[in-house]
Amino acid sequence: MITFENLGLRDEILRAVDCLGFENPMPVQEQVIPFVMNESSDLIALAQTGTGKTAAFGFPLLNLINKKKCTQALILSPTRELCIQISNDLKNYSQYMSDIKIVPVYGGESIVSQMRQLTEQPQIIVATPGRLIDLIGRKKVKLDAVKFLILDEADEMLNMGFQEDLETILQSVPDERRTLLFSATMPKEIEQIARKYMHDSQSISIGVRNSGSDNVEHIYYMVQASNRYLALKRIVDINPDIYGIIFCRTRQETKDVAEKLMRDGYNADALHGDLSQPQRDSVMNKFRIRNIQMLVATDVAARGLDVNDLTHIINYNLPDDVEIYTHRSGRTGRANKSGISVSIVHSREYNRIREIERVVKKTFKKEQVPSGLDICKCQLFHMIERMEQVQVNDEQIDQFLPHVFKKLEYLDKEDIIRRFVSLEFNRFLDYYKNAVDLNIPDKPDYKDGKQRGERRTDNRNGNRNDNRNENRNENRNDYRSDRNKSAKRGQRMRMKIDFGAQQKASPRSVLGLINEITKDKSISINNIEVSNKFTFFDVFADQADQLIAAFHRNNRTSFSIAVAKEGNRQREYQPQENNFYERRRREFSKPDRERKQKRKRNY
Ligand code: AMP
Repeated sequence: MITFENLGLRDEILRAVDCLGFENPMPVQEQVIPFVMNESSDLIALAQTGTGKTAAFGFPLLNLINKKKCTQALILSPTRELCIQISNDLKNYSQYMSDIKIVPVYGGESIVSQMRQLTEQPQIIVATPGRLIDLIGRKKVKLDAVKFLILDEADEMLNMGFQEDLETILQSVPDERRTLLFSATMPKEIEQIARKYMHDSQSISIGVRNSGSDNVEHIYYMVQASNRYLALKRIVDINPDIYGIIFCRTRQETKDVAEKLMRDGYNADALHGDLSQPQRDSVMNKFRIRNIQMLVATDVAARGLDVNDLTHIINYNLPDDVEIYTHRSGRTGRANKSGISVSIVHSREYNRIREIERVVKKTFKKEQVPSGLDICKCQLFHMIERMEQVQVNDEQIDQFLPHVFKKLEYLDKEDIIRRFVSLEFNRFLDYYKNAVDLNIPDKPDYKDGKQRGERRTDNRNGNRNDNRNENRNENRNDYRSDRNKSAKRGQRMRMKIDFGAQQKASPRSVLGLINEITKDKSISINNIEVSNKFTFFDVFADQADQLIAAFHRNNRTSFSIAVAKEGNRQREYQPQENNFYERRRREFSKPDRERKQKRKRNY
């Protein structure tokens, strides 16, 4: 078996390997390290990102350079994020080597401070092509002693339009250097660069050309295009611990999907080209530290993001280009972990799936969009598991427990469990109560006069329903869902609150107040009428007591609420939608002020 010890690396590097916890070399390292250490020709390595490439070229580079103060290795990367990451990795690998300096240079940051660092003649420069060209133009970088040129993610550099810059750089380094080129795919342009600028190059392939990683499972859900968002929510709901990227085609779609998810209380944010660099950095950081569970991104914006333990990537739309699909799916299943690449497709895209399957040489599994019942089950057991695993802070809670035990002593264990589950879960059950089947067959099925997408519901009553009803039920902003309920719930009552135009009340602020005090946005408020001293509105009779009790309990408000006589009918207004995800989102991360403010503005 190949070990790091028998690859002939210096002791200082082996100490770092130990410190980083790398036990055995990854396949790309088994092949690349001995090649770079023992051969003299150039290398073209076809390797996906996340396979351990940085150490594969970093270890032998550090082994082969010396302490002389001149730049001996130049590493090019397509994005500033990758540039910073490679530089940090190399600093870690060389933590026990003295007098080795590694300097990253990239755009979007002060060129002056980078120029200052370059005066120290680092042995290794990690650069993005644009910034390096700038520095070459200003004669602030000396490349005449470069022995190694590494092109990392070469295909990405070409995709980003760096071909001309690359050629300039290739002409600015000594001819006798060795070039190591790493790329996830091998488009024709790379073969041309290799022919023109590389000598006697050897090719190594880790994994099959254009193939997806073995650790990635590919699945797809087939729904009507108009149900994509509902399907996405269900996919997320059935995977409560999801940590992934949702890829969209356009900036606008990215913004829309992210906004909808945030509004529905999911822990998501958007990454797209309209963000400033500090905004991008902030979103990426939050995602890296898992403050954000789902990142909705365009392909271009996600390029700089390097996260290794994504559980899922979701293709909200299939990309036009199979290579983009390979890139997207290659973001999960990295570093020997497993991952899932999900595609939400509609029936006309069936052939695209078969086409991608052929190119990536992987079979895609068709999965059924989970039913409401499946999701409720999954969420419930997830919650129970979390409860089982929670760390009980005896020291802090001991002082309160005697009161709690006393208050609950009339309830037996089963009663307590039943209530606890209901407390957490009633809204979830309610939301998915009438959830319909979103699945459609691979091929349109017009038998029995049935239209595409029209299927039997999966609710427990087995009512027939169509997808337009699904939209009504699952779209919490749609007032029609409440109308449907109203038929079942019957009587409405007229209420009044002593908050009127004199206190600058408006229908919006009254709704805000009620939402704030009840914390229950499922209470349906209609026919709001603001008079000078009071505001009148309708609620369902079975919610009136709840509303009055909430106002009594709340000692932060001086307003009081009571049953009123029937008043004039005005326009209908709706309260904020049922937002039962909110609690879950808070558990995942402490909500930041920004988002809180956004929610407030929504009132
Ligand atoms: P890279 O492709 O260089 O971005 O590496 C992907 C991830 O694999 C990084 O988090 C590395 O720290 C990790 N890694 C690299 N080599 C090894 C190894 N031999 N054993 C375990 N993890 C590794």
